Amino acid sequence: MKTELSIQDNTWQLYRYPPEKQHTSLQAWDSADEYLINYLQEQQLLSSRSILVLNDDFGALACVLGDAVTSWYSDSKVAQLALQQNWQRNTDIALPFDITNSLGQLPDTANIAIIKLPKNNGFLVEQLIRLRQVLPDGATVITAGKANQIQKSTLALYEKHLGSTHTSLAVKKSRLIFSQVNKQRQSQSKYPVCWDTESPQLTIYNQANVFSGASLDIGARFMMDHLPDCRDKNVLDLGCGNGVLSAAIARHKPNHLYCVDESASAIASASLTLRHNAPDIPVTFFHSNCLEQAAVPALDLIVCNPPFHQQNTITDHIAWQMFSDAQHALRKGGELRIVGNRHLGYHEKLKRLFGGCKVVASNRKFVILSSTKR
Ligand code: SAM
Repeated sequence: MKTELSIQDNTWQLYRYPPEKQHTSLQAWDSADEYLINYLQEQQLLSSRSILVLNDDFGALACVLGDAVTSWYSDSKVAQLALQQNWQRNTDIALPFDITNSLGQLPDTANIAIIKLPKNNGFLVEQLIRLRQVLPDGATVITAGKANQIQKSTLALYEKHLGSTHTSLAVKKSRLIFSQVNKQRQSQSKYPVCWDTESPQLTIYNQANVFSGASLDIGARFMMDHLPDCRDKNVLDLGCGNGVLSAAIARHKPNHLYCVDESASAIASASLTLRHNAPDIPVTFFHSNCLEQAAVPALDLIVCNPPFHQQNTITDHIAWQMFSDAQHALRKGGELRIVGNRHLGYHEKLKRLFGGCKVVASNRKFVILSSTKR
């Protein structure tokens, strides 16, 4: 992994999180980050406590911009952990700015906001509306992204929800988007949204930036049809998203449900979903990287529909960590049940970690696997 970022006469050591689990070809920043930092420096926009930072993937922007940052805002626990570690690697002083989850209040003290363009347009719109509400009229918002992610339709979202907008030339396949806040724009947030499933009948709530936010994921659908008996069990939904699997599990009357996700929007959505569908079932939520920040008792059952992306990168390290954390968290005789695309080869991982793995069900696309802690 390339870990040294040099800009002008300074060098920073920056790692993805968790550093030891990353592929050596990946790094903690990209050409869009470098373009944005160079622009802010050249235009002398780095006065103290002036910049609000959104969606900084692994904290690289904040580490380089230092005390020019007034507040740092991210949906991702992994991004927060990366920022904290990277900050400590590069300086002895404590973080001089606040870290805010994506549903927290944005400060109204910044002059400039910088955004790393998110993949999800609903989440982008949500952020543009919130920035328009807190920043002063005429304030500058600069977005950095890959040129191929920035379409005419993306710029139309900025025009509609934030204010007048233009783009830079592309440099190393990245571009900047410049917008001026116009407080006369009127659009309002549509989140949380909700939709229903048929069997079982559930109402699923979604904040912006949640996996499968507008319909049921087909992997989750398959898992819902093959849940084990959960009655009176302590059950954990690992990577709970909007809580759709948890809501189905709640129908079985578990003793206690635990929901874990690294996305703050996912946790907020799962909380609404469970409050609506299963108000009587005790639930505990953890905003955590796999089970790192989740203090759970020995569990009877863990269900998991694992992710295979981190930011824009396809990876299996999260599934590995989820399965290995699950192996530790289960009681002896407890079960991990997962759903995944057939081609991902999860059975090999489970065999290595648990010493065995059984196919519960399979169809053309998915397989449901179960391993028991010995
Ligand atoms: N359980 C939901 C379902 O079946 O629709 C969501 C499954 S989605 C494939 C995977 C979920 O894992 C996402 O909600 C994502 O935010 C979460 N996730 C990704 N990386 C994670 C990590 N390092 N720790 C915890 N959750 C993570």
